[in-house]
Amino acid sequence: MLELCAVDAGYGNAQALHGVSFSVGAGEAVALIGRNGAGKSTTLKALMGILPCRAGDRRFEGRSIAGLPVHRTSRLGIGYVPEDRQVFGPLTAEENLTVGARSHRPGPWTLRRVYDLFPRLAERRHARGQSLSGGEQQMLAIGRALMANPRVLLLDEPTEGLAPIIVDTLADAIAIINGEGMAVVIVEQNFAVPQRLCRRFAVMENGAVAWAGDTAAFAADRDRIDRLIGV
Ligand code: ATP
Repeated sequence: MLELCAVDAGYGNAQALHGVSFSVGAGEAVALIGRNGAGKSTTLKALMGILPCRAGDRRFEGRSIAGLPVHRTSRLGIGYVPEDRQVFGPLTAEENLTVGARSHRPGPWTLRRVYDLFPRLAERRHARGQSLSGGEQQMLAIGRALMANPRVLLLDEPTEGLAPIIVDTLADAIAIINGEGMAVVIVEQNFAVPQRLCRRFAVMENGAVAWAGDTAAFAADRDRIDRLIGV
């Protein structure tokens, strides 16, 4: 449904992606893993149109969207939760969520459904974004993206730095979201959470996809993958 075909992208004079090909199909959950600086976040930014493709193509449902800016990309039904979450600090949790519904596409995700998914957010609905814990902010960032009813959700290290119990809560929520048919791309440095959620994996190294395969191939190639991600 959404794919990069041999994409080069970067920052200023620095090229960060070298011929990256990556795709996610309708309803699929795909993991993008790799060490610090391998190019995972940059790949998500290229998928979202935050960074332009300097070479290669970006495609949605078979059509080239290489030059499409971010706001129009999100209107196609592509949601993005950045690594730093970008919660609006002075706004309440509920206001953050309703901002997410501005570019609303029709679909199942409403305030009520987000609160069902994350009961903690319902309890904290009147708290300002800046007063929420890291885990609550991550729930809020995901909830805000869901409010736009995307068809694909791009998640950049959603569990980084969070306590194991919160990691479990988030992994359960992502499994529910994906189980209801939304495609998910999840970026993580290690594979603990992706292994629970995904059947297809891509491992990045030095701005390129160094390995890609399904669960069976992942298990068979485990030694090589451990070396690539530096376990
Ligand atoms: P991390 O886990 O640290 O987020 P990553 O795999 O997501 O790692 P990227 O953030 O995509 O890696 O970084 C890929 C390369 O691009 C790195 O060499 C990094 O230093 C560089 N880079 C990332 N963001 C910028 C930026 N805003 N300006 C310049 N270079 C950048």
